Amino acid sequence: MCGIIGYIGEKKVIPVIINGLRRMEYRGYDSSGIAAVAADGIRLSKKPGKLVELENVVNGANDSSIEGSVGIGHTRWATHGEPNEINAHPHVSFKKKIAIIHNGIIENYIAIREELSKKGYVFYTETDTEALANLIEEHYGDETALEEAVRLALLSVNGTYGIAVISAREPEKIVTARQGSPIVLGYGDG
Ligand code: GLU
Repeated sequence: MCGIIGYIGEKKVIPVIINGLRRMEYRGYDSSGIAAVAADGIRLSKKPGKLVELENVVNGANDSSIEGSVGIGHTRWATHGEPNEINAHPHVSFKKKIAIIHNGIIENYIAIREELSKKGYVFYTETDTEALANLIEEHYGDETALEEAVRLALLSVNGTYGIAVISAREPEKIVTARQGSPIVLGYGDG
């Protein structure tokens, strides 16, 4: 069973998320990943295998620039697509506007994929989740709030999900939604 975590606040985001992922490790997983909003857009790190592999990447020189205050992390238990780096979450949408982590199954992902492919979207993974990433992007116009884009996208989704979505354009937000999967929100000082 996968685990998802998001953090928005004053602490450095990567250690908070790694710590959260470690606390969910017991649930089982095959790969892990983190997305955070940096000054120049969404930064993404993903790795198959143990969480320590991901930690090695985010602690390495290439990712030391992820210092933002908002981020999401995922431990994946693959249902659609083999457990490898490309299929690991988070998934960034085609035009890189949003990043999503997802627990569950999007039952009608093939139909969504076909519809969006006709509109020019290119799919890089074998996952059901990437269909939802691009569907949210399709609804995420320049004037649309992220929560509205997520709400509109989910109207055409069948299946189970717990999701967390971030956008470089609205770095003060994490948008979550759930159906058949749990999400817990914690709210504290800072
Ligand atoms: N269905 C998604 C995938 O295979 C999410 C799996 C999960 O819940 O970890 O990527």
